[in-house]
Amino acid sequence: MYDIAIISGDGIGKEVMESAEFLLDKLDLNFNFKYGEAGFECFNKNGTTLPEETVKIAKSCDATLFGASTSTPGQPSPIINLRKKLNAYANLRPIKSYKGVKSIKDNIDFIIVRENTEGLYSQIEYGDDSQVIAERVITRKASEKISDIAFKLAKRRNKQKKVTCVHKSNVLKKTDGVFKESFYNIAKKYPEVKTEDFYVDATAMYLITNPQNFDVIVSTNLFGDILSDESAGLVGGLGLAPSGNLGDENALFEPVHGSAPDIAGKGIANPCSMILSTAMMLDYLGEKETALKINKAVENIVAKGKVLTPDLGGKAKTIEMTEAILKEVI
Ligand code: ATP
Ligand code: MG
Repeated sequence: MYDIAIISGDGIGKEVMESAEFLLDKLDLNFNFKYGEAGFECFNKNGTTLPEETVKIAKSCDATLFGASTSTPGQPSPIINLRKKLNAYANLRPIKSYKGVKSIKDNIDFIIVRENTEGLYSQIEYGDDSQVIAERVITRKASEKISDIAFKLAKRRNKQKKVTCVHKSNVLKKTDGVFKESFYNIAKKYPEVKTEDFYVDATAMYLITNPQNFDVIVSTNLFGDILSDESAGLVGGLGLAPSGNLGDENALFEPVHGSAPDIAGKGIANPCSMILSTAMMLDYLGEKETALKINKAVENIVAKGKVLTPDLGGKAKTIEMTEAILKEVI
């Protein structure tokens, strides 16, 4: 029995979360859902985008599924806050090409592991009119922890069994020096996993020229953020982009897309990003077989091309595509 926190949020977040629940209900596993509110509608009701109660629920569960939230002017982002409160320091973005979906090359299948708590996003900036300075905080502890997650993933994925460390240590000698050193320190624990390290500028190019070469990429906060979006652009786009946020005690899974107000309420949102995020969660919980089955089912339905939502060129409703995927899983 797994306790799962369900935070649907706003817009299509709610619609695709229904698909995730539908899927989990049909699996041969037991789940206990606990519901939490967050986002724009939640703010209008409760005066906060992220109630303490929601954080409590997420902390108490084995894993959390988050849909999407519409930003509320003048209010903090609930998802950024929730990641912080759960100390989810590792952001995972799988990048995969799908047969039937336009992609820069075939056979792209890698995952970006981005450090999510420090680096240039420490938000420590100061100065005056003539000069401003941003602090780039890199700690050995966080660098080692993020590398460890990357190596564990490379083992678990069992593909190329390779981790690529991305940095700019020729210029950022101290900060990226520590990041790179930490990476190779952790590598000693995983002799069966291959290692390489590239400068971030070169990596930006290799992602276009040679994306099949990557298996697991690990990087600091800003570089990881930029490379994640570049990589999403190589493959299927927002409708097929899941993500995970891991901490030592908690894990949160969510589609990369937002609440998409333009299509909300029409029942035509592509459920795949949410379904693939749910598969990531199951893998995290140790249900690797089931996760693989779900990934395969999404691949098959997309490749067949008969039941697709409009963003993928079809006419199907969210529920129709969800049902088609479910039939392939079971
Ligand atoms: P938010 O402010 O919540 O991020 P947004 O307007 O930025 O909302 P996104 O959800 O980030 O919207 O999506 C950007 C575009 O991609 C939207 O026009 C939306 O229609 C489309 N899109 C995003 N997710 C999906 C999906 N799951 N299915 C279909 N179209 C999607
Ligand atoms: Mg958006």
